[in-house]
Amino acid sequence: MRVAENGFAVELFEAAPQPGGRTRSFIDKKSGEWCDNGPHLLNGAYGATEKLLDDCQASEHVTWQPSLKLTLWEEQRRYFSLNPSNILPFPLALLLAVKSMPGHSWDSALSMLRLNRAMNGKTYAGHSVATLLKHCNIPAELVRDMIEPICLGAMNESIRTADASTFARVLSESFASKKTARLGWFNAPLQQALINPLLTTARQMGVIIHTSHPVHSLRGGGNGVDIDGEAFDAAVVALPAYASNRLLGVMNTACETRAITNVHLWYEKHPGLPELFIGGIGTLGQWFFDVSAQMGQTNPAVRHLCAVISAVEENNTDRRQLVDQISRELAELCGTDREPTHARIVCEKRATVLVRPGSPKAVMRNIVDASELPVPGELPATIEFAVQRGEKAARSIKKLFS
Ligand SMILES: Cc1cc2nc3c(=O)[nH]c(=O)nc-3n(C[C@H](O)[C@H](O)[C@H](O)COP(=O)(O)OP(=O)(O)OC[C@H]3O[C@@H](n4cnc5c(N)ncnc54)[C@H](O)[C@@H]3O)c2cc1C
Repeated sequence: MRVAENGFAVELFEAAPQPGGRTRSFIDKKSGEWCDNGPHLLNGAYGATEKLLDDCQASEHVTWQPSLKLTLWEEQRRYFSLNPSNILPFPLALLLAVKSMPGHSWDSALSMLRLNRAMNGKTYAGHSVATLLKHCNIPAELVRDMIEPICLGAMNESIRTADASTFARVLSESFASKKTARLGWFNAPLQQALINPLLTTARQMGVIIHTSHPVHSLRGGGNGVDIDGEAFDAAVVALPAYASNRLLGVMNTACETRAITNVHLWYEKHPGLPELFIGGIGTLGQWFFDVSAQMGQTNPAVRHLCAVISAVEENNTDRRQLVDQISRELAELCGTDREPTHARIVCEKRATVLVRPGSPKAVMRNIVDASELPVPGELPATIEFAVQRGEKAARSIKKLFS
């Protein structure tokens, strides 16, 4: 779409029968409802995504918090929130909110200042988040209640291995102001909220969309490119790096990925979660979503809840055990012993490409590589990173033909 709006004739080749990729929806046969592969959160620092949604008349499909409220649950402390005051200047409000969480003190708040100073001083380059935290002497309770959940949510990787410079960028952009710190969610299934508006707008710009059309060969050189034997002026490769490596014949570039497991549960006559999403501390589910409430469906007859387990390195858990464990955790969180009517596990094996050092692939002239391969200091693999890569690719195509 960003290439087409510069006046170029564009054809899009999508391997799957439906466009959507990792932001896709399907019909759950038992409930007859649309279901997303997994819940997606945005934050107020997603400027390029907000602009894209606006350009597709889809902004109303995202509901934004008025200001940051992060509700957490732990067996001992039950529910508590990180909820900075709206009256005070945001940095001060954030420090006070951290100090006020049960089990925290000025020690947690002051350690955030140390973390901020270290991030500004760039003493963390080349290190893991865990090393940065150790260097800043961050107390274990702050790591458990804030740092680890944010790192898992934003980078889909544990603090042990996640890159500190990308994490620093996530923190500094997300917590820059009251507006950037708030969270947003799609209030309709991704298919309707995001994919259909994008497709409609792209088609209005003349983009021809081919589905069930995997590209098997891409060759550059001369004055154009050859895509599966057909000639084009240029190509943008907008794929996760493991797929683009195959297509571009790059065999020696490592590309580490991590899975995300989504456990979807449907209930009858269930009260729902007390908040639309809740971070679990010490639970197998790291984030719990009240999908029905997020979509504004208030009918208590059908309640769709979802638990997300990020950074899954090995997936050995038996599906039945996984559903039982998550059901027990949800029973605790919601104070009800209702059993789910049915469950569905969506495990995205290669949910995100991890942030790793590397350099851009050398590609032929007229091929623009917009692959998902985040390097330290760049954003992690998120919707915002995907949209920004698209914008950058459009600028490259424009430059190529100017
Ligand atoms: C479960 C889950 C939860 C997530 N949660 C969040 C979140 O809360 N917030 C957030 O910002 N991000 C989240 N993400 C990450 C986000 O979904 C991705 O970063 C983003 O969707 C990537 O978009 P993309 O267009 O770059 O790649 P994709 O969506 O993967 O699109 C690539 C497309 O290329 C197609 N393709 C592959 N090979 C070929 C080929 N040879 N020829 C033609 N087509 C091909 C694929 O079928 C696919 O449709 C989550 C991801 C998952 C899986």
